[in-house]
Amino acid sequence: MMEVSGYVSQFEQNKFKVRSQTNPDKFYIVQRTGNGLICECKDHEVRKADCKHIKIVLEVIRKNKCYQNNTFRIMERAKLKLCKYCDSGRITKKGIRKNKDGKIQIFKCLDCKKRFSENIGFEKMRYNDNIITGALQMYYSGMSVRDIESHYEMLGIKVNHSSIYDWICKYSTLTSQYLNQIVPRVGNWIRADEVWIKVAGKQKYLFASMDDDTRYWLASDLADTKFQHNADKLLQLTKNAIGKTPKQFITDGLPAYKKSSRRVFGKKTTHTRHIHIQDDMNNNKMERLNGEIRDREKVFRGLKKDDTPILEGLKAYYNYTKKHGALKGKTPSESAMIEVDGKNKWKTIIQNASLYKQNHA
Ligand SMILES: [Zn+2]
Ligand SMILES: [Zn+2]
Repeated sequence: MMEVSGYVSQFEQNKFKVRSQTNPDKFYIVQRTGNGLICECKDHEVRKADCKHIKIVLEVIRKNKCYQNNTFRIMERAKLKLCKYCDSGRITKKGIRKNKDGKIQIFKCLDCKKRFSENIGFEKMRYNDNIITGALQMYYSGMSVRDIESHYEMLGIKVNHSSIYDWICKYSTLTSQYLNQIVPRVGNWIRADEVWIKVAGKQKYLFASMDDDTRYWLASDLADTKFQHNADKLLQLTKNAIGKTPKQFITDGLPAYKKSSRRVFGKKTTHTRHIHIQDDMNNNKMERLNGEIRDREKVFRGLKKDDTPILEGLKAYYNYTKKHGALKGKTPSESAMIEVDGKNKWKTIIQNASLYKQNHA
């Protein structure tokens, strides 16, 4: 196993800086070109084969472990022009495929001989990636699937609301599997709270946890009741999401949290019951997330059952696309040192999620 963490940083879309393993003060630049990855080292120049620096970059791309100044970067995979199956840079154009609204370039890998299209994650979809990701963003911003259907109709795009709902479920599941294994860099203060929402006409409670510093929404658990609910699951999910236990755990007066904090986080975590005071700055932090959830009334109207990918999708929308005033215009994920390249965040995340699924199938 090659040790890659800490050796590579991506400083431009197609340029990587690789630290020498023999001399830590020396760096080599590896860049993506039309002819694959090239390195400036002697070995590559002489042999014209993949040197160890290129191999490290390939490993980093494959593992999706690229950091820049400690920031985890989610790269636009389609732009890197690497084979979808083996990460080889030796690929060649192999015809065009058409779908309802555009042409898709097909590539063939010269190493593994497999074919793939540039629209990673959207293969076999009848609509293009912009229409699909646009629908996701509109839905999680609070529009209903019927609103989205009429919006697209106005633009001359005919798509049925049930197809839109299928896209939302499909891509919310796909992206959450990928995003939930990325550990956000959060602080030592975690909050939890409950919001009541209606699911399929019934009143439910959404238990949610959030990091104080970054406002990153960490985990949620849907419950039938507020007072009898055991908070262990929420706390366990929270612990898994951040890979540690918090120093401070702040909740309202709900008794369930006290016992769960002891059971799941242990004695080193101080549990503080926060008394609700109006205009209290601290409480506003959680209120903001609660508000985000409550404002999505139409989103939850679409919830057909408890076990739904939609809550996970909403979490992805909130953490990765929603700029936050209190975070100086950053998204919670950016504050937690996770950056998504490209303008269309959904598209970049879906490309990576699709490759993640392929490698973990
Ligand atoms: Zn090299
Ligand atoms: Zn290949």
